Amino acid sequence: MAAPLAAAPLAVQQLAPGVWVHQGVQQAWMEGRADDVANLAFVVGERCVAVIDSGGSPAVGERLRGAVAQVTPLPVCYVISTHAHPDHVLGLGAFAAGNGGNPPQFVAHSRFAAAVAARQRSWGNALLRDGGITLQSQELVTITLPVAGEVELDLGNRKLALRAWPTGHTDSDLTVLDLQTRSLFLGDLVFVGHLPVLDGKLKGWLAVMSELQRLDVAFAIPGHGAPTRDWPVMLAPQQAYLEALQRDVRKALRDRRSLAQTVQDAVLPAGSTWLLAEHFHRRNLTAAFAELEWED
Ligand SMILES: [Zn+2]
Repeated sequence: MAAPLAAAPLAVQQLAPGVWVHQGVQQAWMEGRADDVANLAFVVGERCVAVIDSGGSPAVGERLRGAVAQVTPLPVCYVISTHAHPDHVLGLGAFAAGNGGNPPQFVAHSRFAAAVAARQRSWGNALLRDGGITLQSQELVTITLPVAGEVELDLGNRKLALRAWPTGHTDSDLTVLDLQTRSLFLGDLVFVGHLPVLDGKLKGWLAVMSELQRLDVAFAIPGHGAPTRDWPVMLAPQQAYLEALQRDVRKALRDRRSLAQTVQDAVLPAGSTWLLAEHFHRRNLTAAFAELEWED
């Protein structure tokens, strides 16, 4: 039997010299079998390549590996995961073998491995149920370089500055800054277009955003939606949404409304243009309610 044809490499665009980005579609992961929903990227140094997020299924990871190979013969030396969400990490296994027998370092926040361990079963169930895809155990790789605080990686005359953040979008958010082009890979600490999804701490996320705002950035690459040079202006819509969420939930708590009533009454501000709000706004209210219920 002939070997199956390799799937087409993902489409990538060069945002800045050596900075390549693939934009995922603006859909919920595995809805309508959508596995290519997160933004993925790679940065090419003189010695090797760093991949930043690997996609929502093993097949997407393979297609990203194909995209890297079309751009450069250099090996992938780091595969960085921005946080433990399935649309960003289920392609990791595609890079496990490395090229020429040298496996890359797998890099993520120090809390990433525990988050994956707690969720891998439900991710596997969703892949099978909604996509007919069986997740093999080797497709969830071991993190070889956990990051707490800040770490610099060298790709050969090109440095990436990684920073592990306190709990915000999730408890394992990590950003990557390419020092050469000031390109900042935000993971899901920033959503563009796609409604922000709260899976960490609302107050923590707002605090992280005010720190991010102070960074010197030329190109901002969100986890979902279009990359932009409009920094820090690009943060404003998400900040307004999260602040409104905080305000609304605090008011509901003051008015002694129950979680069920609060979620049932959920409305987005008039004129809201967020995509996928029907999937995620009520979920965000639920998460914010649980968090803010216990504040002083
Ligand atoms: Zn996420």
